[in-house]
Amino acid sequence: MRINVFAVFLLIALIEPSLFGAIPTNPPGQGTELPASKFYSNFDTSACHYRADEFEFISETSLKLVWTSTCDYVHPFQGHVTSKFGKRRRRMHYGTDIDLETGDKVQVAFEGIVRYAKYNKSYGNLVVVRHPNGLETYYAHLSAIEVKSGDYLQAGDVVGLGGNTGHSFGSHLHFEARFLGMPIDPVLLIDFDKMTLRYTDIILKKRKDRLVVENAARFHQVQAGEDIHSIARMYNVSVSDVSRLNHISPEDPILIDSRIRYQ
Ligand SMILES: [Zn+2]
Repeated sequence: MRINVFAVFLLIALIEPSLFGAIPTNPPGQGTELPASKFYSNFDTSACHYRADEFEFISETSLKLVWTSTCDYVHPFQGHVTSKFGKRRRRMHYGTDIDLETGDKVQVAFEGIVRYAKYNKSYGNLVVVRHPNGLETYYAHLSAIEVKSGDYLQAGDVVGLGGNTGHSFGSHLHFEARFLGMPIDPVLLIDFDKMTLRYTDIILKKRKDRLVVENAARFHQVQAGEDIHSIARMYNVSVSDVSRLNHISPEDPILIDSRIRYQ
């Protein structure tokens, strides 16, 4: 179910202005009704990326990803990953691409409020949702947007239909996760094969141009096709550090599902 919180707020204010003293004049984001206002100084519906002030991010931030049950997370689209986060030719690719057909329904991963819902030159039709823990998730290249700024969404609500708009070659969903505007490799949060979250509680740490994700134990569960080099790349740490922490050599094979300490 979707409820536009702005509309509800305005309606109540119009029916019973004495409850509010006056119709609120605060711009969105400065009220207490919006998610994660302790982290964010505004709720900008016109710029897709939040621009954080330098002092806004503390070097480590703990977040809860799941509150009550596994229903807190819904995989945005059940398709294969076609492109990962990382350097692509000369540009950085700040998301995970999932294959889909134009018209397929795309679902929001967590509950939250739609911050941005419109066309953008590179993202095409883009929906950005801010979640109660401060994460923001992006759903790009949509053929149709089915929500608007201010809409409250529960995990699994449809944000739009998959497509090929903006800077895109072939229908796919470009899924992005950010915190205070800084990108996070979605693979660190989500197991795209199992379509589930990796952790219930995470620590975000700033590392160069991005945030990396840790669970308390600082271990990575090995997936098929991974080796020490790919794991080191994923967490932006050196191969020699990973080798040393696990008492293995960089070329040693590692077993699927084994746990590799990366920090
Ligand atoms: Zn992409």
